[in-house]
Amino acid sequence: MGPVTGLPPLEPLGAVTVGAIELVTVPLRVLRPLRTARVADQGLERDVLLVHVRADEADGWAECVAEASPTYSAEHTKGARVVLSEHLIPRAWAGPTGDAMALGHHLDAVRGHPMARAALELAVLDAQLRAAGRSLADWLGATAASVPAGAALGLHATPDELLEEADVALAAGAARLRVKVAPGRAALPLGALRAHVGDEVVLQADGNGSFSLADPAHVAELMLVDEVGLACLEQPLAADDLVGHADLADRLTTPICLDEPLTSLGTIEAAVALGACEVVCLKPARVGGWIAARAVHDRCVELGVPVWVGGMLETGVGRSANIAVAALPGMTLPPDLDPRRRYEAELAAGTYGADGVVPVPSGPGTGAEPEAALLEGADVEQVPA
Ligand code: MG
Repeated sequence: MGPVTGLPPLEPLGAVTVGAIELVTVPLRVLRPLRTARVADQGLERDVLLVHVRADEADGWAECVAEASPTYSAEHTKGARVVLSEHLIPRAWAGPTGDAMALGHHLDAVRGHPMARAALELAVLDAQLRAAGRSLADWLGATAASVPAGAALGLHATPDELLEEADVALAAGAARLRVKVAPGRAALPLGALRAHVGDEVVLQADGNGSFSLADPAHVAELMLVDEVGLACLEQPLAADDLVGHADLADRLTTPICLDEPLTSLGTIEAAVALGACEVVCLKPARVGGWIAARAVHDRCVELGVPVWVGGMLETGVGRSANIAVAALPGMTLPPDLDPRRRYEAELAAGTYGADGVVPVPSGPGTGAEPEAALLEGADVEQVPA
């Protein structure tokens, strides 16, 4: 029993007998692109990469959350597919293929590529949990029956456009607004948004590494952002500028949240020890999977560092797995589970909830299975043993 979280260690699960592992690429159309300081236009077509584990006892599914281009992180969809088919899946076949907890050590031989690794591990775990009739949320130790829906608002050309989108997100039930910002497009729109929504609405901002302490205009703008009353300011500086973030954390009253550099428990420990990270954005896929995510959650609670679950551009398959982590007892800020649909067609239904309340899936595994009709147009690559 952990002294702070009260959560027991993860329970071993029965191994499944895996017969086939497939990489399934599904073309989907995006309704709402998300503009950030790093990505101006993602386009409206997106290939979503799924890992499908076919086992005798049950099938398992997981979404690889890497984006089409290596602009948010070094990982991207086509690269992840190569790493999975040529490096990760062959190691899975050579190791304990049907046991996610035992598989990790074999997958760690591959450096980096946490999102690809996470997808393979989760697909195996999903099959094991389905075979055992247990939900991912229950197995991880989730205590909440539902989680709040936090919305992410992209960069806008004018503050008025941001206010319009904020109204739509709040009307959809958003429990907080997280706003993408960039130099010259932070203090003014955030100030307008605060005046528009009032003091009660929880606001966060995300600079995606676009500010620099070497630029006096950037520093001056960040000092103005500090007056908006944000729950946290996420990744204002470059991903590797931990010293700069520690410096900024000393100057601002707004807590500094890190996102991009937090790829493992070790990097989180280092960033917190340096004073660079006062809030953790936990993306399960970016720390290498859901087993690692539970360890990050536990450690954040021990350290007393607020933590919340960030999102990529997940379909219902990926959202479902993120909800399980967002329902853990140590989560302190609303997760990135936008109440507004992102895709024209829903790959897996039931992950949006209503009025800003997202129910935690209670069905076996992640509780999400891709719609058969959408899989008809998918490209399927079987990676042989
Ligand atoms: Mg971010």
